[in-house]
Amino acid sequence: MNPLYFDHGATTPLRDEVRTIMANTWEETFANPGSLHDDGQKAADRVNAARRLAAQSLGASSREIIFTSGGTESNNLAILGAARYLRNRGRHIVTTAIEHPSVLQTCHSLEAEGFSVTVLPVDRHGLITPKQVESALTPDTILVSVMAANNEVGTIQPIAAIGQLLRARNILFHTDAVQAVGKIPFTVDDWGVDLLSVGGHKINGPKGTGLLYVRKGVRLTPLLYGGGQERGLRPGTLNTAGIVGLSVALQLAVAEVESIRKRLEQLRNHLWNRIQTEIGGVTLNGHPQQRLPHNLNISFDRVEGQAVMLELNRYGIAVSSGSACSAGKHAPSHVLSAMGRSAEEAYQSLRITLGWETQLEDVDRLVKCLEEVIGYLRSLVPGE
Ligand SMILES: *Cc1c(COP(=O)(O)O)cnc(C)c1O
Repeated sequence: MNPLYFDHGATTPLRDEVRTIMANTWEETFANPGSLHDDGQKAADRVNAARRLAAQSLGASSREIIFTSGGTESNNLAILGAARYLRNRGRHIVTTAIEHPSVLQTCHSLEAEGFSVTVLPVDRHGLITPKQVESALTPDTILVSVMAANNEVGTIQPIAAIGQLLRARNILFHTDAVQAVGKIPFTVDDWGVDLLSVGGHKINGPKGTGLLYVRKGVRLTPLLYGGGQERGLRPGTLNTAGIVGLSVALQLAVAEVESIRKRLEQLRNHLWNRIQTEIGGVTLNGHPQQRLPHNLNISFDRVEGQAVMLELNRYGIAVSSGSACSAGKHAPSHVLSAMGRSAEEAYQSLRITLGWETQLEDVDRLVKCLEEVIGYLRSLVPGE
């Protein structure tokens, strides 16, 4: 049996088109894109073309794209960069309880620099309202950071409505769109954002690549100092092949967003229907409608998510357990806790994320294996 991959929320495989163009780039252009000789300019041409492609895909202009090493760096640059630049205008930041750690911990790190952070609670579906954002604003607020879609439970936030109210108040708006891009159609103007983070490896692009959209006129204090690349906001010799790979992955993801959304939503709904009717004793985590098309986060009664994950792994099937288990630390997910789930419920959660290459027969095989695994694990529970 070939292995099955249902962990696209963690990372995705490279698409063939991306692998090919990266290989060609490495072969044809090793020179530094900052060099003025012909070889360097050939590399610079590739970077410029990639920048145009990335900008077009987001409805932005080339000068608004800063290439980074990934979603984590983009989030850090947006938040630290904006806060430090505006520190004399105000020192209050608003974010939400279910952000990725690269947003949440970055915001909290600013407390040591004299900033205060309001962390908005979410409802039981993981949703915040524009009204909540509005009520949290003070004359000192300089920045709001709200993720477009959550990586664990898939809930999609009302970004355009929040953008509208912040624009009217001249407060900077950052969104972490690492999970949303290629899954929800948008442009930076539709959403009214000033700063937007994209990561390459969540959209079938290369790991270690990303970009930050920085709206024209928005100023940031850089995190790094060096040779002045990326308008001084992200110095360091450019990763030519990585930038090309990221931009092609982004262009493909955005061009195909409508068809992939429809296809994955159908597969995901088929999976969820079969799990409910054929296995049962299961609850959905996340918003029933306002959710990413490829995400299914569920809790099986009486069974730990990690046990399910490990058993499925024996069948060659990769999924993710909802509990954040990093560096040996076993803690319930901060996202599920913020949604009001008990620690026990959080430990039961399982995240299944479909991807570009997922087929119907893969989903059907997953259901069959899940049925066996859940039946087996429940048979071990005393009193069954
Ligand atoms: C994966 C992820 C990140 C981090 O991106 P990297 O490219 O892995 O650094 C940030 N935010 C969200 C929502 C993510 O899913």
